[in-house]
Amino acid sequence: MTELLFQKDSYLKEFDATVTRVEGDAVYLDRTAFHPGPSGGLDTDTGWLVLEDGSKLRVERAEERGGDVAHIVSGGALPEPGAKVHGVIDWERRYRMMRLHTASHIILAVLYKKYGALVTGGHIGPEQARDDFNLQGVKEWKDALRWAVEEANKIASKCIEVKVYWLPREEALKIPGLVKLAERFPPEVKEIRIVEIPGVDIQADGGPHVKNTCEIGTIEVLKLESKGSKRRRVYYTVKP
Ligand SMILES: [Zn+2]
Repeated sequence: MTELLFQKDSYLKEFDATVTRVEGDAVYLDRTAFHPGPSGGLDTDTGWLVLEDGSKLRVERAEERGGDVAHIVSGGALPEPGAKVHGVIDWERRYRMMRLHTASHIILAVLYKKYGALVTGGHIGPEQARDDFNLQGVKEWKDALRWAVEEANKIASKCIEVKVYWLPREEALKIPGLVKLAERFPPEVKEIRIVEIPGVDIQADGGPHVKNTCEIGTIEVLKLESKGSKRRRVYYTVKP
């Protein structure tokens, strides 16, 4: 299985790795800082693989395939298994997704706490994010979503440290609210990665986040849309 470097250090922009296999235009590495996507609603990283001869391949996207990460590349001759590569991720794109992703945790937590609203869908890209909520019984759902984003801004501006750690499966299953998610992990997963914004939110989560909620900046609502009472949708971005 590919070692997921971004899970230990989501600020890693470059890394060295060895090619384990090549299938079509997919290059597999022993370790990677590329977050494969979409996963957990978060879009894929893009970037480059620099080969030993100095040539550069464009990483169009990274995908999870059977526990490994496939780097779908273009722009040149593919490396052989055993070759060393230097990976460079498109940091501007990734960092915006980290900010939006952390913002989504806070918005979700705020809506769950006030309305018991569960998230029913979502997507995070570099420009904007959208989340769908089950807001059945909430008549003024537009006000509720706008309020949640305002609340999330208040929380984010407190500069809370975001904690990332691993817990043994049994311990993770004891955390209220985490159980449902943790059950989704196959039994062979013995350690579960926890992302905690202390006092706000705790999740079992494999994606990259910012270290401090102040890095989010200001969350701005772009658009509100209804796809039915179980799917009240908010589009938002982060500024600057
Ligand atoms: Zn997350």
